[in-house]
Amino acid sequence: MFDRVAFVGFGLIGSSLARIMIRDGLAGHISVTARTQATLDTVTRLELADSVTLDATEAVRDADLIMICTPLGAYGAVAKEIGPHLKDGAIVSDVGSAKQIVSREIVPHMPDGVHVVPGHPVAGTENSGPEAGFAELFMGRNCILTPDDGVAEQAIEKISALWKAAGMSVEMMSAHHHDQVLAITSHLPQLIAYTIVDTAEQLGEDLKHEVIKYSAGGFRDFTRIAASDPTMWRDIYLENSDALLDILGRFNEDLTHMRRAIRRGDGDTLHEVFTRTRAIRRGIIDAKQDKLEDQKT
Ligand code: NAP
Repeated sequence: MFDRVAFVGFGLIGSSLARIMIRDGLAGHISVTARTQATLDTVTRLELADSVTLDATEAVRDADLIMICTPLGAYGAVAKEIGPHLKDGAIVSDVGSAKQIVSREIVPHMPDGVHVVPGHPVAGTENSGPEAGFAELFMGRNCILTPDDGVAEQAIEKISALWKAAGMSVEMMSAHHHDQVLAITSHLPQLIAYTIVDTAEQLGEDLKHEVIKYSAGGFRDFTRIAASDPTMWRDIYLENSDALLDILGRFNEDLTHMRRAIRRGDGDTLHEVFTRTRAIRRGIIDAKQDKLEDQKT
């Protein structure tokens, strides 16, 4: 599918995609660059790349596909560094969990003749690093592509074919719409998990002990989600703040509504809301998105 692929950043997501490329022979040569030598040593030991280098400009030279798999906060600096070294006709894509950032931080650094096709494979776990990756991660999940108007159709088709080879359904939408949808489906739930676990952490010692002992009562799932990479999630909240603040405002209102119902002993309201939410769960089961025990970002 590609002669030369360069991964800039190579953790859970990048290494999972590389495993698929190796398994299915989708890349003639895979070069990997990351921030630390320790990660590159791990990549070499796992035999996930044909070449590794700390120099991003060297990694991307002559590459047909450059897949950016770093946290969002690194996008601007990475794009500025690699931009002048990209070959004419190269495709630059990414896997970031927020998408409007690509037009803002990556596109301005790209030379003419380079095609930018932003992507977000909506699949993941709370683990990080190249050892955490596995080829089945994307199977049966959705990948959202958000190319700007005017991006070459051929480039979009190639990225689309790549994610389909990984077992994903590919959807197109605007970056703005993506960020709104993910704010409610992923970024808010993750924030709630972080907050609940932090609230428990700040309880008195006695209660904290009980929380751990009885964690099976719903809390345990929150602790798994709240164990996710702090850098990655900090960057998501900084980058998708508009959509998230909007949805947080609504959520706060709804929470106040529930609080009032509990305070007033208004069982009808509680029952009505809980009945409505059951229907959402049924929809997810019907869409076959309930099976894997993962967290989607
Ligand atoms: P990860 O496992 O933490 O790996 C991040 C990689 O980026 C590492 O190779 C790291 O290098 C490199 N990196 C970090 N900062 C860098 C910098 N300033 N310059 C260059 N390289 C840098 O991350 P991940 O979970 O694969 O996530 C990568 C991207 O995928 C993020 O944008 C995230 O939003 C998106 N995403 C994540 C998930 C998920 O569930 N994890 C799901 C969908 C999409 P070192 O190891 O050398 O530090």
